[in-house]
Amino acid sequence: MKPTQIMIRYGELSTKGKNINFFIDTLGRNVKNALAGSFPQAETSWFRDRMYVELNGESADDVIERLKDIFGIQTMSPVLQVEKSLAAAEKGAIEIVRPFVEAGKSFKINTKRADHEFEYDTMDLNRMLGAAVAEAFPELEVKMDEPDLTVRTEVRADGIYLSVATIQGPGGLPVGTAGKGMLMLSGGIDSPVAGYLSMKRGIDVEAVHFASPPYTSPQALQKAKDLAAKLARYSGKVTFIDVPFTEIQEQIKKEIPEGYIMTVTRRMMMILTDLIREQRKGLAIMNGESLGQVASQTLESMYAINEVTSTPILRPLVAMDKTEIVEIAQKIDTFDLSVLPYEDCCTIFTPPRPKTKPDAERVIEYEKALDVDGLIKRAMDGLKIETIGPETSALEQEEELFEGLL
Ligand code: ATP
Ligand code: MG
Repeated sequence: MKPTQIMIRYGELSTKGKNINFFIDTLGRNVKNALAGSFPQAETSWFRDRMYVELNGESADDVIERLKDIFGIQTMSPVLQVEKSLAAAEKGAIEIVRPFVEAGKSFKINTKRADHEFEYDTMDLNRMLGAAVAEAFPELEVKMDEPDLTVRTEVRADGIYLSVATIQGPGGLPVGTAGKGMLMLSGGIDSPVAGYLSMKRGIDVEAVHFASPPYTSPQALQKAKDLAAKLARYSGKVTFIDVPFTEIQEQIKKEIPEGYIMTVTRRMMMILTDLIREQRKGLAIMNGESLGQVASQTLESMYAINEVTSTPILRPLVAMDKTEIVEIAQKIDTFDLSVLPYEDCCTIFTPPRPKTKPDAERVIEYEKALDVDGLIKRAMDGLKIETIGPETSALEQEEELFEGLL
């Protein structure tokens, strides 16, 4: 007997007061979308305190693996539904306990009865199902206080529901419940992690990427798109905005003193991201900055760059060490892509020794040499916007093909 459904618990969502329905509906839609492609038989339905995925023959393990990426899910349990008879409940309890049996483990039965018409009450059921399990597995011992296994049994109008395992979900809040934000997505290690953490708190993330062809290669752009595809696993899809940055970088290189190139470049990126945000009705900008990591990430530098906007800039990595960031990048499978050696627009144009403490007033003075309005307008006119789904990335396919040839 295989699990017939997955029960999903929400945790933190239950404290969301009046907005609870919005949160649960969003989570329900996200779960449905995540399962739609690979698990066509699965059906999702939701109520105030729980959500169920009817498996209709789909694999419980595979569905659970997929659901581990859906923010807002606190825990999940595979559930076995049997008909409403004592014999079926006994058989079901034995079957769902079977995979967990080990000598010396303890268990108990915990019954709830929503259907009070059923001929046995909770005490009866605890006792009788407990006896059936103990007889089937003499190596298990019964224990009421903190047993290793708790067999949850619910008697409802349409059947008896049994579950034993509780699997951790990713926590967080359903993507889409916090509004929209623009992620400045480079091809590096940090910004995809910042995107992932923003999604974890419910932000609907759109990716903004600055490319400077022909100085940056088509592969560098593809890498950023592939990273967006990795993030789309958590949200279903990611809008990807490719911003032409070549002219801006050429003019900066020509007009701005070396020590300030990096600061001015970042300010132009910030101005453009903010304009895109406004056009697309976003409420925040996210980036992968971590305090003190590189020259552009000192407080002086952040101050000088941030000066172009009053929009909230979220920096989910601000207090993290590189090792912590890398750990998450590995967990979300972006690390291997991020370390592929395709040059980024900033690495190419930025001189090796940018000023770590740029003077905010001088920056503004230097910037006067640029045709900021014209540059911004032409970049905005050249935006390329596409929607990226969670399919396997193009660069990875290429790598796999290449490995296959070796
Ligand atoms: P990352 O690993 O995310 O590239 P980093 O440690 O290399 O970060 P920087 O290159 O200084 O740091 O970039 C700081 C942040 O600026 C990035 O995390 C990203 O949010 C943004 N950024 C940098 N380059 C680009 C780009 N080409 N397109 C979009 N955003 C960018
Ligand atoms: Mg970078």
